[in-house]
Order: sequence, then structure tokens, then C-alpha cells
Amino acid sequence: MLGAPGAGKGTQAARLAEAFGLVHISTGDIFRANLSQGTPLGRKAQEYMDRGDLVPDDVTVAMVKDRLGAADVARGFILDGFPRTLPQAEALDRVLAERDSRVDCAVYLKVPDAVLVDRLTGRRVCPSCGANYHARSHPPKREGVCDVCGAALTVRPDDREATVKKRLAVFHQSTAPLIDYYRDRGALLKADGEGSVDAVTGFVVSALKQRSRHD
Ligand code: AMP
Repeated sequence: MLGAPGAGKGTQAARLAEAFGLVHISTGDIFRANLSQGTPLGRKAQEYMDRGDLVPDDVTVAMVKDRLGAADVARGFILDGFPRTLPQAEALDRVLAERDSRVDCAVYLKVPDAVLVDRLTGRRVCPSCGANYHARSHPPKREGVCDVCGAALTVRPDDREATVKKRLAVFHQSTAPLIDYYRDRGALLKADGEGSVDAVTGFVVSALKQRSRHD
């Protein structure tokens, strides 16, 4: 899944994983889990994440390689938030080539910056079950309380406005070149990420099914 922060990569990746029986691998989630468990990897990643910067490629690539070594990925997987730089994309190609595999499709969710800022600064997350809300467009039934499990909702530290602007700048500089990288390889699927969650999922699922019929 390619897209700026707030484009809906996590939401759509979870739905696509479900629809196609794939494993959902989010590098952001792995970093956050390491951070909350206080692991050495989490400590290394924290300063970058807090600033809205990317964690260095060597650290990120090593973590993804490790994750792709697990048995469950054999049935296929969706990478959410990886690759985010050209060196990461090239490293991923090498890792997959070693297994006679490749990136089948890079799904790019396109959303204008102004919409992204509104989405991210309004985002509320449940630290307990992972449910996502939005202060304005998808509020919980009781303010600040998760509908699913009743835990107190939180704002991700990197969703504060200054950090959001930094993350968007990083996306345009470091990650946006990957759109051309995958387009040149005939692997890009561009989707309008501004529609409703269901509309975006519907579009991507049918486009992916159509692609696999042509393969
Ligand atoms: P996300 O939840 O995908 O928005 O990721 C949250 C943060 O984790 C990012 O702002 C980065 O600091 C870090 N991160 C996640 N994925 C990557 C990646 N592929 N490369 C470098 N840093 C990453």
C-alpha cells in the first residue's frame, strides 16, 4: 500500500487482507509495538517517529526481512507503509527475487494534502483494541471512549499538527518517487482515496480481481 500518512493505507490493507486471505504487515504497527514494549528496536525508532521522520532504511529493511522470514507470510501478504523510500523498494525487490517472487501490485491511495491534515489531526485510536475513530467524521458514541472495548481513546503523538506537516513533506520527498517506480514496472494501481472507506475497498478489490484474471 502506497500513500501519504492518513490516506487510509491501514484501514484498506486490513480490509484487503480479509478479502484475499493475506497477512497484513504494517511497519508502523511493528515499530509502535516495539516502542510500547521498550525493545532496543523501539528505542532506536522512537526519536525518528516522534519527529515525523522515517526510521533509517537499514533498520527498517532488517525488520521487514525478519518479518518476511516467518511462516505465515507463505500465503501472501500486504505491506502497509513499506517501502517508503527507493532504497527500501530496491531492497524489497531483492528479498522477493531470492524467493522467485515479486511485488504483484502497488496500490496507491491518492488523497489531497488538505484532506490528509484534517484526517490525521482528527484521528483518535484505541490503544487497547486498535479501533480507529475521527473526532468529526467518525466519532465514538461516547466522547473519548472506544465503542468496541470501552478503553480511553488516544491521539497518536505523531498526529499533532506540526508533526503531520513534517510527515507529509517526508512523503512528498522520499515516498512519492515510488509511484513512478511501480508505474514503470507495470505494477501500479492508482485509487482515489477520497471516497468512502467502502467505495475505496470496492474499487481496489474489483481492480485487483480484474488484474489477476489478466495475469
Ligand atoms: P505509519 O503508522 O505507517 O504512519 O508509520 C508511523 C511511523 O513509523 C512513520 O512516521 C515512520 O517514523 C515509521 N515508519 C513506518 N514505516 C516506515 C518505513 N517503511 N520506513 C521508515 N520509517 C517507517
